[in-house]
Amino acid sequence: MQRTEVLIIGGGITGAGIARDLACRGAELVLVEASDFSNGATGRCHGMLHSGARYAVNDPISATECAAENTILKRIANFCIEDTGGIFVSLKNDDLDYADRFLSSCKKTGVAAKEITVEEALKKEPMLSKEIVRAFEVPDASVDPFLLTLGNIESAREANAIALNYHSVREFEINEGVIDKVIVENLRNGSVEIFKPEIVVNASGAWANKIASLANLSIEMTLDKGSMVVINGRLTNGLINRLRKPSSGDIIVPSYSSSIIGTTSIRVDSPNENKATEEEVDFLIRETAMMIPDIAISRAVRAYAGIRPLCGSDRSCGREISRTFQLIDHSEQGIENFISVIGGKLTTYRLMAERVSDLVASKLGLSGSCKTAIDPLLSVNREDIHARIASSIANRVVRKSLLFANDVIQRCTEELRGMEVVCSCEEVLRGELSYWCNHQDVKELSDLMRRTRVGMGYCQGGLCIFGLLSTMIDHSDRDPMELLVRFIIERERGVEPVLFRGQLKEEFFKEHLINGVYHLDAYSRGEYEKDLER
Ligand SMILES: Cc1cc2nc3c(=O)[nH]c(=O)nc-3n(C[C@H](O)[C@H](O)[C@H](O)COP(=O)(O)OP(=O)(O)OC[C@H]3O[C@@H](n4cnc5c(N)ncnc54)[C@H](O)[C@@H]3O)c2cc1C
Repeated sequence: MQRTEVLIIGGGITGAGIARDLACRGAELVLVEASDFSNGATGRCHGMLHSGARYAVNDPISATECAAENTILKRIANFCIEDTGGIFVSLKNDDLDYADRFLSSCKKTGVAAKEITVEEALKKEPMLSKEIVRAFEVPDASVDPFLLTLGNIESAREANAIALNYHSVREFEINEGVIDKVIVENLRNGSVEIFKPEIVVNASGAWANKIASLANLSIEMTLDKGSMVVINGRLTNGLINRLRKPSSGDIIVPSYSSSIIGTTSIRVDSPNENKATEEEVDFLIRETAMMIPDIAISRAVRAYAGIRPLCGSDRSCGREISRTFQLIDHSEQGIENFISVIGGKLTTYRLMAERVSDLVASKLGLSGSCKTAIDPLLSVNREDIHARIASSIANRVVRKSLLFANDVIQRCTEELRGMEVVCSCEEVLRGELSYWCNHQDVKELSDLMRRTRVGMGYCQGGLCIFGLLSTMIDHSDRDPMELLVRFIIERERGVEPVLFRGQLKEEFFKEHLINGVYHLDAYSRGEYEKDLER
């Protein structure tokens, strides 16, 4: 049994942010995550660092929170943010009064928005529809949610926190209104681990109610599915938003070598209902092509969905519910040492973490204050790295390697075939994979994907999968066929809803390669498929 001051449940951006904040204040803590870090809503979001403009008219509290946090995150976490800027555009038949309300609401909520001419907008974004009638520039940006989360985890670890992925909370033992023990299953080996925390923080996003039910409590929240489609190629320089009351199919985010279009808003009953459908894909392409017409003729590479845990159980449309967050001190419901946090945005995670940590610190009597708005998330000595490797490669690898850039570059430059490109879509080097294969957090091939982007590009792993596997085999005693089939199934789930035009042709090719050439269809998928559904 392990004693700790704080046990955090959930390794999405909220849990990771709380771990960093509390660890930097000197708290002793353990974070447990049932899957890999950022595999919940965090890794299934749009990757938009909001300026607040989207919420300025209808959700002013969220707008102000996003505006302030946007500035802070660009300062402390620039390694995972592309400061592209964004443009809100009105189309011919849109409500033009909305544009005026938008500008005055941005002013009131502290969101920096400036009207530009249609000509200026087209010069900045040549792919924009010629049908736009008004345009406004805002400081939206593109953020990598995987890196942001892992950056927080590593920063927390530097401050002595323990963070364990593949550790799932199963049960609470409650004694006289206090969670005395938390029973956790280690999913790497099936063993049971018992923690005895002074305070438990529930940062499990869409699963928050399930965790609360372990203490016989319930939380009023709404689960809202949003789907996105990854479009091949970067069609815009910055983010493009439709200037209207937030609706579905409004946003285009440039991300690495692709454009991500989204989203939808569909009420669901379970956090596991996270599959995008063909209807959603059709709808999103149609709507966003009104802003960027080339979307209609581009290849849709993949679709995915995430579940928004929204505050309250209002039965109206999910879009009507505020994107602000709620902190619940369950001592008011009779459990003294239990706190839940729900709602919010990726953009506002730091603020959420600060508020949770303030409450935890006051309960524990910690004196340290919050430093996360000032201290950079990670600091790496780039000069030394640039002396050892060409800068175009160094920039790419360093950006992804968090605190480990020196060790990753060492693998790439010193290991036999370390500089070989394994994934050409995302230019991932064998040395990078070989470094991460040995990392304590990596169990599946998809864990390597989240850390290096291998298999995330336009072939969706079709061409790099065997190179990836050969690197993993050198470093793991797991059954290689099992690893491979699990990864293929995971990638296929996202491709199913986009099987038309170019992507259909590509899938025929991959099908032939994987089954016709390598005969992987001979391996049973049943158990793995069920496992991934869970
Ligand atoms: C479709 C969509 C698009 C979005 N786009 C944006 C955007 O562009 N910009 C933005 O700022 N925000 C966006 N958001 C919001 C943002 O993604 C979320 O606010 C944020 O990711 C929530 O993070 P979280 O850590 O609270 O939850 P999650 O990321 O869901 O993390 C909760 C974690 O708890 C873990 N867990 C569950 N049960 C257990 C257990 N028993 N034991 C241990 N761990 C457990 C889960 O595995 C999960 O990893 C979007 C959300 C969605 C759904």
